[in-house]
Amino acid sequence: MATQAQTPLIETLAIEAKGLVKRFDDTLAVDGVDLSVPEGAIYGILGPNGAGKTTTLRMLLGIIDPDEGVRRVFGHDRPHDIARLIGYLPEERGLYPAMKCDEAIAFMGALRGLPLDEGRRRGRELMEAHGLGHAVDRQIRQLSKGMAQTVQLLGTLVHRPRLVVLDEPFSGLDAINQGKLEVMIRELAADGVTVIFSTHVIHHAERLCDDVAIIAGGKVPYAGSVDAARDRIPAQVRLETRRAEGAWCTALPDDARHDPKKDGSHFWYFPLPAGGIEALLKRLIEGEAGVLSLSIERAGLHDAFVEIAGAAAAKAMKDEVPA
Ligand code: ATP
Repeated sequence: MATQAQTPLIETLAIEAKGLVKRFDDTLAVDGVDLSVPEGAIYGILGPNGAGKTTTLRMLLGIIDPDEGVRRVFGHDRPHDIARLIGYLPEERGLYPAMKCDEAIAFMGALRGLPLDEGRRRGRELMEAHGLGHAVDRQIRQLSKGMAQTVQLLGTLVHRPRLVVLDEPFSGLDAINQGKLEVMIRELAADGVTVIFSTHVIHHAERLCDDVAIIAGGKVPYAGSVDAARDRIPAQVRLETRRAEGAWCTALPDDARHDPKKDGSHFWYFPLPAGGIEALLKRLIEGEAGVLSLSIERAGLHDAFVEIAGAAAAKAMKDEVPA
């Protein structure tokens, strides 16, 4: 069928999905997902195991069709029409064990329309650039798991896609290779490539993403910027005073947590009052509280996740700590 270019709903979006639903027999895997991925963003799909991340990514890529809803990738209703613009690292890793690394990379590129010779040349170049030059002529079966995963990632990128979709890319990598992957993702975004990845580790999304979709039980209770998610929770004030009481105490919320220390100082913890920090500080100074230190701590994405998706979903995420 002829490729039919469509006008994007909003030109700057790489992906737009509305009301995606997917059922597998009795399982409602995805239940009305909306998301918008701006072009050039690093976008995280964040949720515990079984939340619906892989199913969502597969629908976005056109590997499976939604039962309901629409998705557009660079304005196209049929993602297959623009497969050459997309690189995809599936959750199930796997390369042919007997292939040499440069061949494996070239093979993946060929599946996305890149001539094999050019794929081999780029494959060798990419392996050199990522510190694997010594292994170019090795067979996949001779690589460590982390190296094989890196080779598969290079194969995902070899045709120079405009959109890169990575399903749990950090899983199975040690801390050093996780760090290298972070650098690669940032470099792709700096080159204008849109990167969307799924993860069940909040820390990865917090460090890397501009925007996230939080997914739990097939629904997306939040999709938007990481900053806006964090701002849903008031910043916390940490105050240290010399005195334990005085008229200045009325400047603190009634439920401020008081933590007296053995050295005679007093710590207080409470949400930033609506009047702001300057008004608070003025009352503390005028009331001679003896301010020793005062800091404002912004909520992290983990706290925002608990607020948005609930403690149970957060606990399911928490068990997975980065390597
Ligand atoms: P994980 O991180 O564990 O891969 P996920 O967030 O990617 O989880 P999905 O793989 O999308 O979650 O699965 C969502 C739900 O749909 C789960 O309950 C899963 O068992 C179910 N599911 C996914 N694919 C299929 C399938 N092909 N047939 C039947 N059920 C499926």
